[in-house]
Amino acid sequence: MPTTPNAIKSSVSKAIVVGGGIGGLTFARACLDVGIEVELYEKRHLDSMLSGPGGIFIQRNAMRVYKLLWDGKIYNRFYEQGGKILKGGFFSKDGTPLYINTPGFVGEDDLGVCLLRPELQQILYESLPAGTVRTGIAFEHFEDTGDGVRVFFNDGSIAEGDILVGADGLYSKVRARLNDREQLEQPIYSGMCCWRGYFNRSNLPLDDRYSWGEFWGQGNRFGYFDVGGGRFGFYAFKNTESGGNDDAVGGSLKVMRSLFSDYADPVPAIIESLDQYNIYRDDILDRQPLSREWGRGQVTLIGDAAHPVQPNLGQGGCMAVEDAFELVKGLLTNETNYDQVPTLLRQFENSRSNRVTRVFNISRQVGNLGQADTAFGCFLRNWIYKLTPTWLADWQFRWLFDYQPEWNSYLSRD
Ligand SMILES: Cc1cc2nc3c(=O)[nH]c(=O)nc-3n(C[C@H](O)[C@H](O)[C@H](O)COP(=O)(O)OP(=O)(O)OC[C@H]3O[C@@H](n4cnc5c(N)ncnc54)[C@H](O)[C@@H]3O)c2cc1C
Repeated sequence: MPTTPNAIKSSVSKAIVVGGGIGGLTFARACLDVGIEVELYEKRHLDSMLSGPGGIFIQRNAMRVYKLLWDGKIYNRFYEQGGKILKGGFFSKDGTPLYINTPGFVGEDDLGVCLLRPELQQILYESLPAGTVRTGIAFEHFEDTGDGVRVFFNDGSIAEGDILVGADGLYSKVRARLNDREQLEQPIYSGMCCWRGYFNRSNLPLDDRYSWGEFWGQGNRFGYFDVGGGRFGFYAFKNTESGGNDDAVGGSLKVMRSLFSDYADPVPAIIESLDQYNIYRDDILDRQPLSREWGRGQVTLIGDAAHPVQPNLGQGGCMAVEDAFELVKGLLTNETNYDQVPTLLRQFENSRSNRVTRVFNISRQVGNLGQADTAFGCFLRNWIYKLTPTWLADWQFRWLFDYQPEWNSYLSRD
């Protein structure tokens, strides 16, 4: 029996999406699942849109969304391509476990899947019919037409739809235009930069008991995670000024080598295995959460455009996935009534506000702990973690996995 709905009603018939990241692509798929026509505009060209540094955790909460979309095909492909999130956790730099969790703490066999970013983007892109995604076209501005929205792009093209969804990330131009601005103000620098990439496991001394691990030092930390096919993603953070560049000091590999040389195995061995031309460095940024309203009229935001967070929980993209699903679900009604669309969009924003604000706050807290930069601060942190019972530490994160998306009650089926 097909699981795709055939007779649901949506309050909108056509959506325009700006941004082909995880949020925009997932939103487009969810629209198609419920019969909403969708056009997605991405400013990058296709090869660039299908790229990206290192890997990403798609955690159980977001995986539950993918299980519902497109008859679970994205979900299945993620499992075929990626690496399961199994037992793993935080260690001190000498390799002492500080907090280890297993998927059992949320009653699951795994906590989701990790994928290389290009592979994630490719799978999401391939879930959409040809022509849905239009690349190399940048959003410029929009105008409210009373019962819909008219959207203008840098190549002179114009799109019209019932709603406009800004999924255009940290520097969202849709968000800027909602505030009648040309550009958003600068985001907030976290005080740390991040290196990312991936490596082949080959003969490295990784501990088979763990599918991921993050090692905490003083003002820096290093993490790795299984992304499938014998490959592992890595990331490393360091407290530093913004705008740093490793080229002047011999390149990223050299910098990472000296930063992590006194870490326990496997960290130094992993660093020795890296290809210095495939290490990407970025400053880590976020923005203070918006109020409970993110958009106006027929225009709303999802993902980083609305709520960029520090990547310390691996949940920024997962929140974009949840947003995408909840937005489409919020548009499903018993009757088609265009007047109610702005209300439905504000309800969606309001419904997401507490959860994404909590992710923002806890991401910052975990970042502060992981990046503690005094000897005493690190001693205290490690000591508290070692003394905290695992069940209590689990409890701090369990709410993230309590998210249970569903839309069966909204959909009628064959
Ligand atoms: C180091 C690091 C590690 C992370 N790890 C994780 C993790 O493990 N798990 C997790 O869930 N999250 C993680 N995140 C966060 C995650 O990457 C983001 O939250 C996620 O990518 C946001 O998705 P998005 O679709 O909202 O925005 P984006 O991915 O930023 O996509 C926005 C898209 O919009 C396009 N765009 C921008 N402006 C325009 C325009 N004017 N017109 C048209 N298109 C435009 C951009 O080119 C881009 O393709 C991490 C982030 C960092 C920095």
